[in-house]
Amino acid sequence: MSATIPDAPAGTTSRIWRGVIEEYRGRMPVTEATPVVTLREGGTPLIHSEVLSELTGCEVHLKFDGSNPTGSFKDRGMTMAISKAKEAGAEAVICASTGNTSASAAAYAAKASMTAGVIVPKGKIAMGKLAQALVHGAKVIQVEGNFDQALTICRELADQYPVELVNSVNPYRIDGQRSAAFEVVDQLGRAPDVHVMPVGNAGNITAYWSGYQEYHRDGLADSLPVMRGYQAAGSAPIVQGAVVDKPQTIATAIRIGNPASWDRAVAAARDSGGSIRAVTDRQILSAFRRVARAGVFAEMASAASVAGLLELHEAGELEPGQTVVCVLTGHGLKDPEWAISGAAEPMTIPADVRVAAEALELI
Ligand SMILES: *Cc1c(COP(=O)(O)O)cnc(C)c1O
Repeated sequence: MSATIPDAPAGTTSRIWRGVIEEYRGRMPVTEATPVVTLREGGTPLIHSEVLSELTGCEVHLKFDGSNPTGSFKDRGMTMAISKAKEAGAEAVICASTGNTSASAAAYAAKASMTAGVIVPKGKIAMGKLAQALVHGAKVIQVEGNFDQALTICRELADQYPVELVNSVNPYRIDGQRSAAFEVVDQLGRAPDVHVMPVGNAGNITAYWSGYQEYHRDGLADSLPVMRGYQAAGSAPIVQGAVVDKPQTIATAIRIGNPASWDRAVAAARDSGGSIRAVTDRQILSAFRRVARAGVFAEMASAASVAGLLELHEAGELEPGQTVVCVLTGHGLKDPEWAISGAAEPMTIPADVRVAAEALELI
């Protein structure tokens, strides 16, 4: 009856984030019988970017999903997929991965006391991501092939053996990932005018568009964003309209030649008045550095969204004052090699204050 909300007691935060299933329970396909397997994913920061806003004349915000428990947005879908697998009595899950799906599946399976098998393209996943899968106790198998071939193997394993597939072809993954769109609207107080993001297997753009549409339908957002998806030029099957047999890009998380949610990505771009385009590795690397210099360490694939933003700006396709959200899908710490390779080696000095002051150009 009373609408007053008591202040939090001193020394506590007013609100503790419970993970995407509990936060959006009414919108998630769960019941009382669903064992919620969560690492308190979601609730990630929406960071206003002064640098990118100034550059584009828009209000640019970065949705930093690198601050999820395993360092990528994959956790949003994995909490749903593993919870439903647990509910169905599964004891083992399997996925193909360019790295982040395996890191997430390994962590959530471990939390649920389940076994995870992950199949990754040999030599093509970042060291940090491999470390995550290993440390959480997943059975990691490297296949002499690419992601698309790994996914084909996983689909067949799930067909023929008692193991649940948790790639984004699992509809529960998309259900959970919709939470990111809900959060963006909840954080901004409205839907953005333009939404820019990387596209790999295309599950995430499918999920965002679905989430935005749902909030719009339910009257929680007055408008819908224009969806702008970006593939890497060396692995841009949707842009080229044909499967890419040997996808190439430094952005390994979007190094995918035959996206599982291809049609739905095309539909999201079309129905929102947007597009799916490509940015080169050079553009991605430059965007990566720009964002890092402004305090946000995202992984290479994530930078495709910012590269896309800059391209939209240069092509005159943004209107001044528009609200833009760029999704940064994963954390840069997963693959620090790129950051280090582009930087000068730190200077070495004797343990001396004056020398340190000189080296720092303080005197
Ligand atoms: C998985 C992933 C992507 C691509 O998302 P899709 O849903 O496959 O399109 C982009 N960036 C990062 C960091 C990822 O882990």
